[in-house]
Amino acid sequence: MLLPPLTGHLETRRRLAQAVRGGTLPQVLLFTGPAGIGKQRLALWLAQLIFCERGGEEPCGSCRACHLVDGLTHADLHWFVPIVRPKAGDPDKQVDEAAESLAEVMESRRKQPLYTPSDGMAIHSIATVRLLHRRASLTSVEGGRRVFILGEADRLVPQESSPEAANAMLKLLEEPPPGALFVLTTLDPRRMLPTMRSRAAPIRLHRLVDDELREFLRRHTKPTWSAEKIEERVALANGSIGQALSQGEETGRAYRSAEQLLAAVIEGRGPALERALSQTAFAARGEFTAMLDALADTLGEAARGTMGQPVRRTVPEPLLRHRSPAPLLQAMEKVAEAREAAAGNVNPQLLLAVLGEDLAEVL
Ligand SMILES: [Zn+2]
Repeated sequence: MLLPPLTGHLETRRRLAQAVRGGTLPQVLLFTGPAGIGKQRLALWLAQLIFCERGGEEPCGSCRACHLVDGLTHADLHWFVPIVRPKAGDPDKQVDEAAESLAEVMESRRKQPLYTPSDGMAIHSIATVRLLHRRASLTSVEGGRRVFILGEADRLVPQESSPEAANAMLKLLEEPPPGALFVLTTLDPRRMLPTMRSRAAPIRLHRLVDDELREFLRRHTKPTWSAEKIEERVALANGSIGQALSQGEETGRAYRSAEQLLAAVIEGRGPALERALSQTAFAARGEFTAMLDALADTLGEAARGTMGQPVRRTVPEPLLRHRSPAPLLQAMEKVAEAREAAAGNVNPQLLLAVLGEDLAEVL
């Protein structure tokens, strides 16, 4: 078995299994919910359930079809994840290049199933959509249903400069080929084209409960983490496996940048803030949005602190001196606006300069 077993989402699993067995499963689904809780893993579980030869409430895990899904080698399972935009000039070559990149990602996931988030610059380009079309037009290899998973569907961008990709995708979702199931996943459905969103049946997924997270970390970390480390990560992970696993690295960096920025903002407008704003460099868009998320989370913790609730992570002390959470909530709104703008084609440095000024005003 290669894929780590699906954790949590029991009620959703029950409902999905019922729909599969009753023949009422919509052909296009949209899984939404926070990062790192297993949206794509649940989509793989659903594929396994559909292909499983035993036809139970859960995939049996031991038939041939289940093994193929576990090894990410089932011929009727097509998992599309964001990849770097192909460089070839010729459209047909671009599609080949996209197919190669995807195959490489799948190969690395076979080796490392607990994968890290996609690079911030990775997208679903028009070449990926063409590839999806090409595969969707073929018939089933195993003679049954086919499952197409489009992870992080909001990365079907830049939509403004390539309406072609979005339109081609729309056509496919409007009239899915018989027997094909499409599962799209996203952190935030508002980042998707409304026309695309409206064609999918939404399924909202939630954070895992701490016990589920604890159990997962106990069984699937290698070498197995100590009880202390597990508790430490669980306390900070907000019910997200992805967050618990990556905290040491990307997330830690994002929180440090957020803290530095807040410290400079608290000092007020002036050379220190300007320096902080100009010195924060981001290698990829993903790093920038991770910093914004860390910023919003830190402000949220501070807001809880001002209401006398326990604070689960360190926040700059001056933030806790506010008499009410109002300014902190206002600051969070500013961050949310920046987060939305960051999904577009805005220069992170410019965005940060504006955000820094806005935060200095309310905090
Ligand atoms: Zn099975």
